[in-house]
Amino acid sequence: MIKKMFGKTGVELSVLGFGCMRLPVTNPEDPTTIDYDLGTAMIRKAIDQGVNYVDTAWPYHSNSRLDPGASEPFVAQALKGGYREKVNLATKLPLWLIKERKDMDKYLDAQLKRLETSHLDFYLAHNINSLVWPQIKDLGLIDFMESALKDGRIKQAGFSFHDRLPVFEEALNSFDWSFAQIQYNYLDIEYQAGRKGAQMVKERGMGLIIMEPLRGGFLINHMPEELKKMLDEIRPHWSLADWGLRWLWNQPEVNLVLSGMTAMSHVEENLKIASTPIEMTERDFEALEKVRLFFKERLKINCTSCGYCLPCPEGVNIPKNFSYYNDYHLVDSDEVRARAKFYYAGQVAPHEKFEHCVHCRQCEEKCPQGLPISDLMDEVAGVFGN
Ligand code: SF4
Ligand code: SF4
Repeated sequence: MIKKMFGKTGVELSVLGFGCMRLPVTNPEDPTTIDYDLGTAMIRKAIDQGVNYVDTAWPYHSNSRLDPGASEPFVAQALKGGYREKVNLATKLPLWLIKERKDMDKYLDAQLKRLETSHLDFYLAHNINSLVWPQIKDLGLIDFMESALKDGRIKQAGFSFHDRLPVFEEALNSFDWSFAQIQYNYLDIEYQAGRKGAQMVKERGMGLIIMEPLRGGFLINHMPEELKKMLDEIRPHWSLADWGLRWLWNQPEVNLVLSGMTAMSHVEENLKIASTPIEMTERDFEALEKVRLFFKERLKINCTSCGYCLPCPEGVNIPKNFSYYNDYHLVDSDEVRARAKFYYAGQVAPHEKFEHCVHCRQCEEKCPQGLPISDLMDEVAGVFGN
């Protein structure tokens, strides 16, 4: 496994990190039912093969962002037997739960207990965006990070981000952060922090962690046949995951790519890709630019299926509605449109469909992409409503 010096931290990190947000579960309807045996085997296999960064967060694998999830306690168990010492452990301060300065210490101390560790190697302010940023800054986020660094509870301070570039720049300039974590992939170079944000991180000597490298599976599950064929002709032995991950590792700003792996096959494939560095050619980059432009024209709703907007009080499955809506518009084909309608009818449960949206807009403040979800439900209705 290739390792790179991580910004100014003096720490060498593997280019692949293990994200614990989409672990295997025993009951697909219940995210809290992590499959401990399989999940532990996956994480340990990755570490045995050189992955030295494990990422979790307070709400991962919960039914609601207000509840502590099952991911942190799982990670504590999975890293027993000497594995904790082999990795840099990262978790995040749930900013949306912070009401006053002392809550920050309360959550960090609770996370140290949940993770059964004396310190966190990397600690992130979770999901800085324009809604939460002014408030959390006024509540004393910077003072909290400084004191947690000083007393050794955390070793490196950073933040994860989903919003527009100016907000990103403001957050970057507010503190001497060690690192930032952004959504980045070959489709999203002009989106959120994007390439400009990645360059700002590098200019400041910080480390850059990438999340959503395959856009929540979109770059694999929604690749039209003709584009896949074009990529296969150029690199016959590369999977679509190869293309997505290798593009990132060929970007000079990128240090570490986080992948949320849900099956052992994902671990094996990602380890294989990360262990065989390949310098991409001009032809490779041009091919991916064609793919990007193709999707850019067709992607109607920029939903990453992160699920932060859930649960909707009316039971609407927001990302599922948007996913089939995007499928419908993906390529200009009656067959594709008919298939999207067919799958929408069969795969989205009646209580999850758009018609239950009462336009309360509660979901919108939780959406890191800033989507006008309520209005978009009307668009979904226009397609699937008859
Ligand atoms: S606006 Fe619609 S989708 Fe969003 S929370 Fe309200 S009812 Fe649910
Ligand atoms: S609508 Fe927004 S919050 Fe909900 S899944 Fe999509 S990107 Fe995530």
